[in-house]
Amino acid sequence: MTKKTAGVVFVATAWASLSAITPANQAPPVQNPGVIAIRAGHVVDVEAGSVRADQVIVVESGRIKSISAAPPPAGARVIDLSGSYVLPGLIDAHSHLGMTTIAARDADRLFFSSLLEPTASRAIQGVAHLRTMLESGFTTVRDLGNAGNFADTALRRGVEEGWIPGPTMINAGRIIAPFGGQFRLQPEKPDLAEPEYYFADTVDEIRKAVRQNIHYGARVIKLVVDQRWYIYSEADVRAAVTEAGPRLKVAAHVNTNDGALNAVRGGVATIEHLQPLGDETLTLMKERNVYLVPTVYPVDSYAGVSPAMYKQGVERLKRAYAIGTPLAFGADVTYYREGRTRGELTLDHLQSFVDAGIPAADILRIMTVNAARAVGVEARRGVLKEGQAADIVAVPANPLTDVQTLRKVSFVMKDGVVYKADGTFTWEPARRLGR
Ligand SMILES: [Zn+2]
Repeated sequence: MTKKTAGVVFVATAWASLSAITPANQAPPVQNPGVIAIRAGHVVDVEAGSVRADQVIVVESGRIKSISAAPPPAGARVIDLSGSYVLPGLIDAHSHLGMTTIAARDADRLFFSSLLEPTASRAIQGVAHLRTMLESGFTTVRDLGNAGNFADTALRRGVEEGWIPGPTMINAGRIIAPFGGQFRLQPEKPDLAEPEYYFADTVDEIRKAVRQNIHYGARVIKLVVDQRWYIYSEADVRAAVTEAGPRLKVAAHVNTNDGALNAVRGGVATIEHLQPLGDETLTLMKERNVYLVPTVYPVDSYAGVSPAMYKQGVERLKRAYAIGTPLAFGADVTYYREGRTRGELTLDHLQSFVDAGIPAADILRIMTVNAARAVGVEARRGVLKEGQAADIVAVPANPLTDVQTLRKVSFVMKDGVVYKADGTFTWEPARRLGR
């Protein structure tokens, strides 16, 4: 399998950015294409919530050329998934691949990663995490910062240029926040929050921080709106949204309902974390098509996440679903667990949607097409249809009746390149760089 895929690896490496900013939904030209035909026993249409049997998915130049019952084209490399259910690659809209909090060392506090680990170490952790995300079926991740001094940009470029295997990455660069960010600093050492955040306390500072992020390779802007008791106003948030312009979306971490309202009214694309949100906020988000990335943490995932806290999160998620707030999957994992990969820990977050009583068909949408819209890649990713990127995974059972089967991804293709086949990860380093 490894040898067979070697020729196809070039496809991914040719997809790197050719211009200063190449959004993830605009593909640069592809060379050396080759044709792949996937014999799919069942194809899951996540939009319709239905399954079609015995289809052939033709992949050319990294994209889906057709899905039909017609036989594979002559000369195509055929991949047999006739015993599997095939669906679009999963999307995690809230990852932190350049951060690993270790409870025994730092009580899950972000602060210690920043203090103890240089950016290079954070990038190396990210390389490992990226691979496991792909292995677990995530073909797109939106990485929301806390990656030292732009380790996330290095990771994104590493994937795009073919140095390392990983999902398509939309990275936030440095988080923009009012003074202090998410740390409690002490006055003799105010620099201790460097370089995780840009502290920005006026509209001009916010604009400049957005520009710095764009310059250093961010593909989304992340605001921490209200971690301190001085919070970003609607006008502050709007300044970031305006500066980010039509190309980059803005994601808002919120701790309070007031902060969330300012963020929604200021025009952000997504609200991160659901705990503080009241019904009026959830309703306003529905009206304005602002996606909620709920991040309900499993019990004992982070220090202090009790069964009661989890239950509260699940209840809130139920409420958001009932109101009709648009939802996108995002796990917000930084925690480390011996014996588990980042990809597996991310998939654990599936359970909160199950516990909230959300039907499997909607959970699938939340993890694919909805998440694609939330992060802005829906023009190319999130569903299986002609013209979309060939981001394709396979599972052993019907995810519409057994959503837990998503934990058993046996096959992963991203941009037409096979990264996992028959349950085994496969990847070869680039022989020609993507730019
Ligand atoms: Zn986070």
